[in-house]
Amino acid sequence: MTDTTSTASPVPAGVKPLVDIQGVHKFFGEHHVLKGIDMSVKPGEVSVIIGPSGSGKSTLLRCINLLETISAGRIYVHDALIGFKEINGKLHDLNTKQIAGQRREIGMVFQRFNLFPHKTALQNVIEAPTQVKRQSKAAAKLKALELLEMVGLSDRANFYPAQLSGGQQQRVAIARALAMEPELMLFDEPTSALDPELVGDVLEVMKKLAKSGMTMIVVTHEIGFAREVGDTLTFMDGGVVVESGNPRDIIANPQHDRTKEFLSRVL
Ligand code: ADP
Ligand code: MG
Repeated sequence: MTDTTSTASPVPAGVKPLVDIQGVHKFFGEHHVLKGIDMSVKPGEVSVIIGPSGSGKSTLLRCINLLETISAGRIYVHDALIGFKEINGKLHDLNTKQIAGQRREIGMVFQRFNLFPHKTALQNVIEAPTQVKRQSKAAAKLKALELLEMVGLSDRANFYPAQLSGGQQQRVAIARALAMEPELMLFDEPTSALDPELVGDVLEVMKKLAKSGMTMIVVTHEIGFAREVGDTLTFMDGGVVVESGNPRDIIANPQHDRTKEFLSRVL
């Protein structure tokens, strides 16, 4: 059923994956949304996921980030089994505190910039480090200013979300996720809600982050980004991985009709 074409990734063989997704299924009631997903991402890799609307891309990211519970299979992030602990071969649910601990290691940026509207850019970025990690305000602020500089918004630190463009808000959202020093960043169509002229700045920040060695899983329709920045490209359709491999190979020479048809629509 899962017909996967793999090519070598640029990360040397033998390096342990940072993210290891094994036979993951997800049901919403009777609705079988993920039908046996296998995928792995090595440290420092950028894994790009494409696919039509409704194919299960967001659900997969949400399962990695513990916003959804998987129905079967396993997800490991840095050797930790996500959402469960295994005792004598049996899986037990994690408690709320353990879930929060795992989620803290994973940053996520959504399609809709969900900044706190009544907080400035700087206050948004220091919120989690001070509230969740109990960092001092001074230390969190120092780090936040560095991150705002990284995303090109040093001069917008004291602006409220409503005073920022969508692209600027999305860059604040990236800085906010990075403030928790995650070991993995998930992006769910981070540029889909933006006006076309604002997409480039956000993609530039993501590219910079990729170059800095961050491990990233990026759901996007930006095929140029996939080709230029992606180490692997995975095409999902109907809750399965149809094909996965080197982005340039897949874009130039898709093996499956469904991939061809999808690419012809987005290219
Ligand atoms: P994609 O991100 O690829 O567009 P999604 O993961 O959002 O796809 O959705 C996959 C399928 O799962 C869709 O049919 C969607 O309606 C369904 N779905 C997503 N979230 C829920 C939910 N919370 N409850 C029920 N169905 C859901
Ligand atoms: Mg989605």
